[in-house]
Amino acid sequence: MRLKHGAASHVGLIRRQNEDSFVAGGGVYAVCDGMGGARAGEVASETACRVLMRVPQDATEERLAAAVAEANHVIFSQSLAEPSLGGMGTTLTAAIQTGGSLLVAHVGDSRAYLLRDGELTQLTEDHSLVGEMVRRGQLTAAQAAAHPHRSVITRALGTEEEVRPDIFCVDLEPGDHIVICSDGLSSMVEEEGIAAVLGRDDEPQKIAEALVAAALEGGGEDNVTAVVMVVEDDGGSEGLAEGGVASEGSASGSLAEGVPVFGPERRVAPGLLLRNRGEGLDRARGWLRFRRRRVIMAVGIALLLVAVGLAGLAAFNNTVYFVGTTPEGLVALYHGMPQTILGLSMHRLVEVGAAYTGLEAYLKARIDSHELVSKEEGQLFVRSLALQH
Ligand code: MG
Repeated sequence: MRLKHGAASHVGLIRRQNEDSFVAGGGVYAVCDGMGGARAGEVASETACRVLMRVPQDATEERLAAAVAEANHVIFSQSLAEPSLGGMGTTLTAAIQTGGSLLVAHVGDSRAYLLRDGELTQLTEDHSLVGEMVRRGQLTAAQAAAHPHRSVITRALGTEEEVRPDIFCVDLEPGDHIVICSDGLSSMVEEEGIAAVLGRDDEPQKIAEALVAAALEGGGEDNVTAVVMVVEDDGGSEGLAEGGVASEGSASGSLAEGVPVFGPERRVAPGLLLRNRGEGLDRARGWLRFRRRRVIMAVGIALLLVAVGLAGLAAFNNTVYFVGTTPEGLVALYHGMPQTILGLSMHRLVEVGAAYTGLEAYLKARIDSHELVSKEEGQLFVRSLALQH
């Protein structure tokens, strides 16, 4: 049997930086998803990967556990020593080739999946709030996937003095396809989708890139990283020989060039609460500023509309006349509309004519109607009444 591999990583469509790091080659395959403000997340995930890279192929369980403990210690010490790195942490899902098996170490909510005979199995358990609730039967997988706190992890590397990784062994068979991925893949692509892409009869590098592409298509809300291994039957030689060439990450997120992230949604791990609260406040203030600007704009537009309306009304009012009566009982021509708006009379007296009382009923009716007329019409009417008397 021989193991071929490929790997790809992408910053995603929303985050500004890629805090995922990965290792693929030399018998070591790993994905670390960092968290923390400024450059901290990237530092944490990259530090963990650099420690893992020194683990030799065919390492024992003890050797792997020691590497995880060392990575935890280095990250935790750095976070205490360097204020800008305070509270940083990372997930870690690593597989070491040992004979015909993979030795896996796991902390956090990155995942390893095995596709064998068309069936996808999640090899790792999520160390997350919702993952634990699902295991306790308090949530279904579907509810967990939509849960607002789905990104809260309960175990991370570098956030506490000690870390307790899950360590286990998986025996491999020819035809097995394995992927180690950050939650940027598993949260964006359903398991059926992951299985469909992972099971392709293609080069592992192409498969890794297709998985990342699927995550971007699914929304790309987080950094996404996939390390893919394909087990091939090479004619019965003993154990697994390292195959393939050194992996090539896609555009961003390779171990060497990972850079920090301020994402719109930071993951919260124990020890990260303070930092995350700070970021949340900054976001809230930004939102309030945005809201305030929007309110000011809305009020401005409303005032403008009112002003335009009033100007239009005034212009119209200036063109019309009506015939009515004065308080003294005389027929009169008024300039403007007969209405009173907000206590303001919309008209002014132009000229007066005959007394109202002696007029014929049909003339009174016409006057009482306050019909809008032109100045000439109105004058003619008022003056003709005055001539009759
Ligand atoms: Mg992530």
